[in-house]
Amino acid sequence: MSAAPGEAVFHVERLVKRYHEEATAVNDVSLSVAGGEIFGLLGANGAGKSTLLKCALGLVRPTSGRLQVDGLDVQREPLEARRRIGYLPEELRLYERLTGWEFLELVCGLKQVECDGAVEEEFRYFGLYERRHELIGEYSLGMRKKTGILAALVGRPKLLLMDEPLNGLDAESMRRLRLRLEARAADGAAVVLSSHVMGFVERVCGRVTILKKGVVAASGTPVELRAQAGLPDEAFDDVFLHFAL
Ligand code: ATP
Repeated sequence: MSAAPGEAVFHVERLVKRYHEEATAVNDVSLSVAGGEIFGLLGANGAGKSTLLKCALGLVRPTSGRLQVDGLDVQREPLEARRRIGYLPEELRLYERLTGWEFLELVCGLKQVECDGAVEEEFRYFGLYERRHELIGEYSLGMRKKTGILAALVGRPKLLLMDEPLNGLDAESMRRLRLRLEARAADGAAVVLSSHVMGFVERVCGRVTILKKGVVAASGTPVELRAQAGLPDEAFDDVFLHFAL
């Protein structure tokens, strides 16, 4: 079974994750993201964003609730669901002793897709082509982040989960990432973006959900959230802070 165009590619229903008695990281959160959407998952530090994304990947087991990826139940069909996801983790762990190109070959192998001209094209697009045969251990912060982004994009996944993709990126790289995410969404992928860079979020995301201490504090389009907050002309950071603190 696969989600039809416009249907929810990512569906979260009443998700609860309690790490231990005192720490409920995600508390009864529901959301749906359709193919073609770029969705912002926002919240202050510790609000529960990464936990929700890790539940989608099967890296964290939910206490209760349900997650579906492209129509597949994440707990019942974890491997099939995982194959539909491209994930950029917040804390990148790359193989320092591989070159950028070798790392992408490894990722392609794991995802069972050819490491061909499409990957080469992405190296060029993100300005890493000339450095692709250098060790990742010698890459700058931004180059490492771009390597992680390339890995997430491999195989044209139906669902892209991007946890803090902007850290370390320069302005040109941010622009290229924006265009790339918009192109993937236009091709039918669902994109979930977690970020603290509110100008980028407002520009790129059609809808956002703001988490506060694990619960949904606000949801809607950036314009709707501005109206709800009564802050039509302020920076989007102020709108975010209105709900997130
Ligand atoms: P940030 O913006 O800082 O990345 P976040 O919104 O991604 O924050 P999470 O990393 O999901 O937040 O953390 C949510 C809560 O769950 C925090 O209180 C955190 O301390 C707690 N938490 C996260 N991972 C664990 C863990 N493995 N064990 C115990 N508590 C955890």
